[in-house]
Amino acid sequence: MPYLRVALDVPLPRLFDYRLDIATSADIGRRVVVPFGTRRLVGVVLEIVEQPDYDVAAIKSAEAVLDDMPALSPALLGLFRFCADYYQHPIGQVLHTALPTRFRDSTVFRVAEALRYVAVDSAGLLTSLPKRAALQLRLAKLLAIPRNEAELRAAGGTAWKTVQAWLEAGLVVAQVVQVAPGVAAQGPQLNGEQAEAVAAISTSEGFAAFLLNGITGSGKTEVYLNAIAAVLARGQQALVLVPEINLTPQLEGRFRQRFPGVDIVSLNSGVADGERAAGWVRAARGEAGIVLGTRLAVFTPAPGLGLIVVDEEHDASFKQQDGLRYSARDVAVYRARQAGIPIVLGSATPSLESWQNAESGRYRRLHLGLRAVAGAQPPTLRLVSTKRQPLSEGIHASTLAAIRERLERGEQSLVFLNRRGYAPVMHCGECGWMAACTRCSARMTVHLRERQLRCHHCGEEDGLPRVCPGCGNQDMKPLGQGTQRLEDMLAEHFPKARVLRIDRDSTRRKGSFETALNAVHAGEVDILVGTQMLAKGHDFPNLTLVAVIGADNGLYSADFRASERLYAQLVQVAGRAGRADKPGEVLLQTDFPEHPLYQALLADDYAAFAAGELAERKLAGFPPFLYQAVLRAEANQLDEALGYLRNAIHLAPASDAVTVWDPVAASMMRLASRERGQLLVQSTARTRLMAFLSEWMLALRAQKPTKVRWALDVDPLEL
Ligand code: ADP
Ligand code: ZN
Ligand code: ZN
Repeated sequence: MPYLRVALDVPLPRLFDYRLDIATSADIGRRVVVPFGTRRLVGVVLEIVEQPDYDVAAIKSAEAVLDDMPALSPALLGLFRFCADYYQHPIGQVLHTALPTRFRDSTVFRVAEALRYVAVDSAGLLTSLPKRAALQLRLAKLLAIPRNEAELRAAGGTAWKTVQAWLEAGLVVAQVVQVAPGVAAQGPQLNGEQAEAVAAISTSEGFAAFLLNGITGSGKTEVYLNAIAAVLARGQQALVLVPEINLTPQLEGRFRQRFPGVDIVSLNSGVADGERAAGWVRAARGEAGIVLGTRLAVFTPAPGLGLIVVDEEHDASFKQQDGLRYSARDVAVYRARQAGIPIVLGSATPSLESWQNAESGRYRRLHLGLRAVAGAQPPTLRLVSTKRQPLSEGIHASTLAAIRERLERGEQSLVFLNRRGYAPVMHCGECGWMAACTRCSARMTVHLRERQLRCHHCGEEDGLPRVCPGCGNQDMKPLGQGTQRLEDMLAEHFPKARVLRIDRDSTRRKGSFETALNAVHAGEVDILVGTQMLAKGHDFPNLTLVAVIGADNGLYSADFRASERLYAQLVQVAGRAGRADKPGEVLLQTDFPEHPLYQALLADDYAAFAAGELAERKLAGFPPFLYQAVLRAEANQLDEALGYLRNAIHLAPASDAVTVWDPVAASMMRLASRERGQLLVQSTARTRLMAFLSEWMLALRAQKPTKVRWALDVDPLEL
């Protein structure tokens, strides 16, 4: 009798054996319902063996193997095993993370085969329609080639109803399509740099990693689209990963427009569970030509995968910060290697890890140095020195003058400040008291609109104090700048201008972000005040000025990655200025105009910046020149957390290749009433570090359970 070896969502890094009367190798990679203690759990069959590891008499029977989703392929299971090893995470929990929510419980979820609709006689249908039936005419034209439901619905209004009526009348037929048709719509003629990049990607054989380094607006997305067209034409699938914030309806629309008739599966947090699971299944069946999604989409099955694209590969949102702490970019590179296919990592400001990989020849660099639209110029950048200059409410006179100029010309300005709220601190000038969060080691942010103090780390809220709790002073002052204050100040200074603030506070309600973006597009806004939310992916053709306030905060940070992040953010926000025919200007207010980071930015020389940073990191012994992992521990008291970590050091295997540092408090020691410590281990030898970690985790997991919550973070982005 065969035994199933099942991966379950439990915090143990092993498989569990179950009995099943008839099991075949076809069951490997399928979901299975099993008893576990007093519970019923859903797991995935990883192996079928004749001889179990445990006492046969103690082995329970599996209830059922579910066949509602295609079995996970050996390749995909290999990817999950890699994640389990690399991130030292139990395999069952890796699988649980990777599977769509719908497949995590024992209900059966069937997905109908994807259908495409096409007119029997499109020309005849067209001439039979009344001249004024605009929607019907549009539909009839669309139906000249097979279309999927999403495309037809996108035609608007009653489109889908009409198609069904035509189906009934026999004017349209539905077909089951297995492989996506590979007809791409015509895009713009590629320029030389783009054509070279596409050719390099499309003619590469086997695994190859390309670092597509192109300035904002250089047409990176066009390169992706053309490389994908080639993949689809071969009947293969493409996986495209983007940061959450970049996956705008515009980007999705651009893909749909370019690849009519191709089933494009969109996977992100905005997609409902059922739809997500359905898209996943269509990808697994090979029906979906393109999977376009955020971090988690890297785990989507795609039997005919021919290309992976990671857009904005430097973006920190590709790294998950809890549970399975994976980097979707790094997992994607592994997946491409495993599948023997090319991967394109695109960015205007590549991560220094990827940059170093290009320097060392592991990745091939592709460069796009020109704006793609003929005549379009990159914005001019000017540093506005605020050294020894009294500022009225944080804005320099020349910045105000530049905004006034835009107002007079009827153009839009964006004032960028990456700090929401009214002011970051509530301060007493008499005794120096500052409002601090009782649950975190952090200050409370002043939210004047809501008359509240709020902690941006744990969400704690409190009323605004009238008198100083320290000394009774009645004249408390908000200190520093937030977007609310900036908004007030600009509205006061430009009473006729329409000022709109866009940040997480102003866009809490569902749909309000889209409404705000539409208002900008419709020209109903003169001055935009915004945070990072606005830095990416949004094109405002009439926006010709970007003023950056408060960038200096990122210059002298204890975090060795802070300057890399600052550079990327500034390039991104600068890219919002003047994308269309109007030249843009970027003003950056700073107390340190001579700082090398700003000088590199001024020269638009990322290579120089990267070279400088990498030289420093090499000298100081930081990634990418060595590999790190952090053991994090949290408890009610810091001492408990540190005690746990000190004990963990004793359990660490001896290794001459691995340095184990002393435990320290996390840079934000208290968070939501929990106190946190961390322990850094590092090595210049990746494989030695991996071996060390796996032995160490075995020892730690063998310990008696403790109240201390701990987790290992491999390749941490934050220390
Ligand atoms: P990126 O992704 O590098 O920011 P995009 O691919 O979005 O750049 O291109 C920026 C703009 O330039 C888009 O409007 C795009 O349609 C246009 N574009 C891209 N390539 C070309 C080209 N070869 N000729 C004309 N326009 C182009
Ligand atoms: Zn006081
Ligand atoms: Zn807090």
